[in-house]
Amino acid sequence: MTKKSFRIAVLPGDGIGPEVVAEAVKILKAVSEASTSFELKLESYPFGGNAIDSLGEPLPAATLKACQEADAILMGSVGGPKWGVDSPVRPEQGLLALRKALGLYANIRPAKFASDSLISASPLKPEIAQGVDIIVLRELIGGLYFGERKEAGVAPNEDVAWDTMIYSVEEIKRITRVAAKLAMTANPPLEIHSIDKANVLACSRLWRKVVTETLKEEYPQLKLDHQLVDSASMLIVANPRKLNGVLLTENLFGDILSDESSVIPGSLGLLPSASLSGAPTISDFSSPDFKTTPGLYEPIHGSAPDIAGQGIANPIGTILSAALLLRYSIGLEKPAQAIESAVRRVLDEEKAGGFHLRTKDLGGNVSTTQMGEKILEALKETL
Ligand code: ATP
Ligand code: MG
Repeated sequence: MTKKSFRIAVLPGDGIGPEVVAEAVKILKAVSEASTSFELKLESYPFGGNAIDSLGEPLPAATLKACQEADAILMGSVGGPKWGVDSPVRPEQGLLALRKALGLYANIRPAKFASDSLISASPLKPEIAQGVDIIVLRELIGGLYFGERKEAGVAPNEDVAWDTMIYSVEEIKRITRVAAKLAMTANPPLEIHSIDKANVLACSRLWRKVVTETLKEEYPQLKLDHQLVDSASMLIVANPRKLNGVLLTENLFGDILSDESSVIPGSLGLLPSASLSGAPTISDFSSPDFKTTPGLYEPIHGSAPDIAGQGIANPIGTILSAALLLRYSIGLEKPAQAIESAVRRVLDEEKAGGFHLRTKDLGGNVSTTQMGEKILEALKETL
């Protein structure tokens, strides 16, 4: 039998990016080697600051082409003080250009504990934090961030600045469909909490109307509730389990709420993210209607120049991003769960003397590669 082949473009990036990506690549290679029905072809490309240094631009044409042809992209992080605000070309420009070229309109950031043993690392009280399982789904290329704006200091009205928020029915519909498919990646399906400010904003009233109608017509089986953004932001710290499920939001609200909810599960180093150009793939690749959904997967943290090169970065956010890549882009739910379970078992395991394996950000002294190796060993037990 010929194996089904999937292409994964790997962009290690800058700072701790290459260190954490190396561990996630080992995990994906192990998944590929263990399968008799599919293979993952991983290839690395220059991107970000390192590409500026070697090729003069953050997103070289060959890197863009490889990303456009790939089934999914795994990225570390880009940027650093070497290419700061005064530089003529900056790594972040490459990231914006890549997002735009791929049409990545759906940003997914799950906030949940990689292991219950981490609940004490949360800034929230254990009884409030435990069981939190929120997937923030943020519309990424519309709204205030992409509307027309006018800076102060520009004639004729120098003392006035403005930004416009525009959403079309179509933009709201397509992100709602992503929310529905995301909700259906779980069994039973997740509840959808749609966030808006419909008591004030016209865009929010359209948002509420289109979300309600789209789900009623196309996914009547899904549970939907509407939350005003102000009360949702209180709930995230006061009673976050009430928002378990998919938190469906427009761009600005999503930016704020995804950062707020990412604080709950402890370290920045633990959390993955996905940015998709369509609804996640939920069918198996053996089914006739199967199609991959290209996406960009990266940990939520930055390039962390303060700890780069020391081998102490936590690779778990990137390893869990690799799990999301398999789940959402390629529809490989089983290996995705195997990776998540391996991470959980390594974090849960109590060593003789009562300590747990932890990287420095979580108060331990395990190195990036040691953590990666332990997770790889645990994964291999179940593959
Ligand atoms: P960016 O602008 O690129 O998002 P940032 O200023 O938000 O960067 P990060 O690079 O995410 O910052 O780092 C914030 C802090 O968290 C730093 O002190 C960094 O060392 C720490 N940190 C980030 N990622 C990790 C990780 N994977 N493991 C351990 N510590 C991390
Ligand atoms: Mg940041």
